[in-house]
Amino acid sequence: MKVAVLESVKKISMEEREIPKPEEDEVLVKVKSVGVCGSDIHYYNEGRIGSFVVEKPLVLGHEASGEVVEAGSKVKSLKIGDRVALEPGVPCRKCVYCKTGRYNLCPDVVFMATPPVDGAFAEYIAHPEDFAFKLPDNVSYDEGALIEPLSVGIYASERARVRPGDTVLIFGAGPVGLVTLQSVKAYGAENAIVVDINDFRLSKAKELGADCVINTKVEKVEDCLNEGVDIVFDASGNSSVISQTTRFVKRGGKVIFIGLASEDYIGININEVSSKELDLLGIFRYANVYKKAIDLVAGGKIDLKSLVTHHFPLDKTQEALEFADKNKDKCIKVVVNP
Ligand SMILES: [Zn+2]
Ligand SMILES: [Zn+2]
Repeated sequence: MKVAVLESVKKISMEEREIPKPEEDEVLVKVKSVGVCGSDIHYYNEGRIGSFVVEKPLVLGHEASGEVVEAGSKVKSLKIGDRVALEPGVPCRKCVYCKTGRYNLCPDVVFMATPPVDGAFAEYIAHPEDFAFKLPDNVSYDEGALIEPLSVGIYASERARVRPGDTVLIFGAGPVGLVTLQSVKAYGAENAIVVDINDFRLSKAKELGADCVINTKVEKVEDCLNEGVDIVFDASGNSSVISQTTRFVKRGGKVIFIGLASEDYIGININEVSSKELDLLGIFRYANVYKKAIDLVAGGKIDLKSLVTHHFPLDKTQEALEFADKNKDKCIKVVVNP
């Protein structure tokens, strides 16, 4: 099979590899769609994210869907021909985090496209049955791939306990900000305000249900708010944004930090956290939300189709990463179709 391999920084080449043999509890999936994620671009550009360092050639891509073409002897829930979305992080299923349902915190998780684990920019991938989720007929392969980023938004909304009537402020209108927007709306948020500096992405936010968008190049967030919001989500990872988040939340509200930030140490107003009795919550990936995410898309509650703006074939994976990196003013999600 053909595989796109990150050989070194900014160099991806096509390689021939053996098609993997599925274990008894695995399915072999012919990969159909793989979303390009910010983390793929980061590994491509810098060869590392924090303490995760690419030390040998690595296959990127962790937002994947495809068709089951072979099933191991113990596989019961899936059969050849099924269309599936792959949850990319497979935990140990034995540690205290796994056993208490917080398997995203499993120290032994095997996560696609995180060194040294290969990802999905390949024609085939073998994956455990219980982390492959059947797609209904009305959910496409591209949407199936984007169940991965959507899961982040759903999980963040659950952890934040978004309730009907809430007013929510979201920093960042990239793919994660846009799925968080749609998730909080699906969970009943009355008012969702999205903040970014990119007009193309803000217009997408508007299209996807934002009640108000703010471009901080021309407007100040405080000029647009009459009062503090119930929940602030940071989907920007930007240190100057993060240090301001506590200002915009009302007393007793919550600030949710999605994913990893650009720096380890960022100053926040701790007296504001105390005097307003704020809850600060971190979000690392997601757990137990894949099925729900698929149902919300199948039921028309969440639109992933309009997030996909560009397609590339597998042998153009390098171009796909370059394009996604350099064209944030005209693309949201770039998808590779092996
Ligand atoms: Zn991702
Ligand atoms: Zn575990």
